[in-house]
Amino acid sequence: MTALKNAKFKITPQRLAVVDFVSKNTLGHFTAEQVFKSAKENEPTITLATTYNALYALEKAGALRSFELKNTTWFESRIKFHANFICNECGKIYDIDVDEKKLRSLINSKGFDIENMDLIISGTCKNCLKLGTKVKAIQHDSFTV
Ligand SMILES: [Zn+2]
Ligand SMILES: [Zn+2]
Repeated sequence: MTALKNAKFKITPQRLAVVDFVSKNTLGHFTAEQVFKSAKENEPTITLATTYNALYALEKAGALRSFELKNTTWFESRIKFHANFICNECGKIYDIDVDEKKLRSLINSKGFDIENMDLIISGTCKNCLKLGTKVKAIQHDSFTV
C-alpha cells in the first residue's frame, strides 16, 4: 500500500476497513459486495456505497485495478497489465501474463490510439477441461498462468 502514501487518500475508519481487506485478501479478484461483507465485521458503520467509494479511491491512487464483467465490477490488487480469463464452468478468474508493449505496438501499428486496455477472455479453464466438463482440444500452452 505504498502508493497510498504518495496519493491524496483520505483515511476514514470505513476506508481503513476496506484497505485492511485489500491488503489481506487472498482472493485475487473481488467484488465490492465481498469487501463490504467482510469489512462490515470490523467496521459496522460501513455501507456498500462507502465501500465502492473507497475502492474507486484506491484505484485512483494506483493501488487497485478494476474491470467490468457481466454487469459486475471486479477489483484486483495486481496492477501489472495482464489478461483476466474467466471460466464459464467454475467462475474462477485467472491472471494471464500478456506482453503489454507488443500488444500496444501491434494496435498502434494498425493506426489506432489506445486510451484504455482491458483484456477479458472467457472460456473453459484447464482444470475444468481436465475434469472433462467440456471435451475440447484447446491449446493453452502459449499462456503463462
Ligand atoms: Zn473452470
Ligand atoms: Zn487479474
